[in-house]
Amino acid sequence: MAQKYIHYFGNESSESLIEAYGMVTKNNVSIDTLNPKLCPNCNEGNTQDAKFCAKCRMVLTYDAYTETLENQKQKEDKLATMEEQFNSMQSQMQTLISSLATMDQSNKNAFARQLFDKGVYKKDELTDKL
Ligand SMILES: [Zn+2]
Repeated sequence: MAQKYIHYFGNESSESLIEAYGMVTKNNVSIDTLNPKLCPNCNEGNTQDAKFCAKCRMVLTYDAYTETLENQKQKEDKLATMEEQFNSMQSQMQTLISSLATMDQSNKNAFARQLFDKGVYKKDELTDKL
């Protein structure tokens, strides 16, 4: 009886002691401070489920690696789309400028009037330029 009591008490107190020190959880599972995932870059201890190093943002899992590649690809695709749109706008501007250059004066006046009516041209800008 005494042995049972001592065993029970001893076990309980040591468990609550290491729990109090934050070394194990309630279910007696080691938490990450005992078993950290070390960063291969800076040697920082990270939680086991960490995808990136908390210190240097190094990729720690294959999932995070593919995720990073995917994000990078999306950014590159977006940039490529923007570049296409920019090039398209540039050629449209060149077409517009060259057609303005060959336009006769009455067409230029009509065009300017249209811009003015639509509010593209403001009166101040117009008088500044004239
Ligand atoms: Zn790191």
